[in-house]
Amino acid sequence: MREGVEKPDVLVDINRLDHLARIEELSDGVLRLGALAKNSETANHPLVREHYPLLSEAILAGASAQLRNSATNGGNLMQRTRCYYFYDTAMPCNKREPGSGCGAIEGFNRIHAIFGASDKCIATHPSDMCVALSALDATVQVAGLQGSRSIQFEEFHRLPKETPQVDTNLRHDELITSIDLPLSSRAYADHSYYLKVRDRASYAFALVSVAAALDIQGGVIRRARVAMGGVAHKPWRCKQSEAILTGAKPDISVFMEAAEVEMRHARGYEHNYFKIELGRRSIVRALSIARNR
Ligand SMILES: Cc1cc2nc3c(=O)[nH]c(=O)nc-3n(C[C@H](O)[C@H](O)[C@H](O)COP(=O)(O)OP(=O)(O)OC[C@H]3O[C@@H](n4cnc5c(N)ncnc54)[C@H](O)[C@@H]3O)c2cc1C
Ligand code: SF4
Repeated sequence: MREGVEKPDVLVDINRLDHLARIEELSDGVLRLGALAKNSETANHPLVREHYPLLSEAILAGASAQLRNSATNGGNLMQRTRCYYFYDTAMPCNKREPGSGCGAIEGFNRIHAIFGASDKCIATHPSDMCVALSALDATVQVAGLQGSRSIQFEEFHRLPKETPQVDTNLRHDELITSIDLPLSSRAYADHSYYLKVRDRASYAFALVSVAAALDIQGGVIRRARVAMGGVAHKPWRCKQSEAILTGAKPDISVFMEAAEVEMRHARGYEHNYFKIELGRRSIVRALSIARNR
């Protein structure tokens, strides 16, 4: 709003909806994270730390302690891209002003997407928390004028296609009420890792990040989840990597193959080709650390 990017007619303060600030375990073992629970409270909650350490790590890799104390879970999901041109109202940007063009495609695109971009927008989603939520198969609970519904995390954010101004599949009259973590994803607690590669060691957004989660039993990967941040308009689930890993022995050669099959489909722009090799190495490193835990 300060930059003149958003000009809302009305602001609604939802901070006093106390019931949306709870973190609670439901009877079926689902851990419900209230949309208004703070990022720091979520990351440090004993049940999150014990059963979903990947999420805890990802949140703590983001922003600064002061920001995390103020930022809410719902707000983190809804944060907008950090594309420089989006915030510069003197420049064209299809996300800010549909039909005006994209300053980044022919401009300075070092932080931009290598997966799922369109000729209308190559922006990335900046969240760390969302990358872990994608790997953990979370569900977003929303409420609106037409009632409540659940959205699978993978379906929550969208690719830019022809309408980059639309970041998510949340409808205009809907509010996020919670984010639910399934019981089944506790199986990754022993072997998970969130790797964030950035220009500074702290207080910087990811150039590339990887959430790696392995369920290893009897020396074999029973299930695997790999998601990347900083590479697409939404958290990027590496389904092809997961297919290679499932049922395999957790060896470095398998990790390299898993990285290769996914990154083979990446497309770079003038200033961000480095992300393709960085992404490949980051997948291997995140999987190796997850295995060794
Ligand atoms: C300097 C800086 C550095 C940062 N670095 C990182 C980082 O490294 N990694 C990272 O992940 N994040 C980072 N962030 C983002 C920070 O985590 C977000 O600003 C924060 O998560 C937003 O939360 P909020 O509660 O303040 O949301 P707000 O800013 O209040 O809201 C953001 C948007 O979400 C909407 N919204 C909020 N709650 C709901 C709801 N329940 N339902 C529907 N819509 C809702 C609001 O209307 C608004 O459009 C950084 C932010 C700053 C300012
Ligand atoms: S990449 Fe997307 S957000 Fe950035 S200038 Fe292009 S249209 Fe706007």
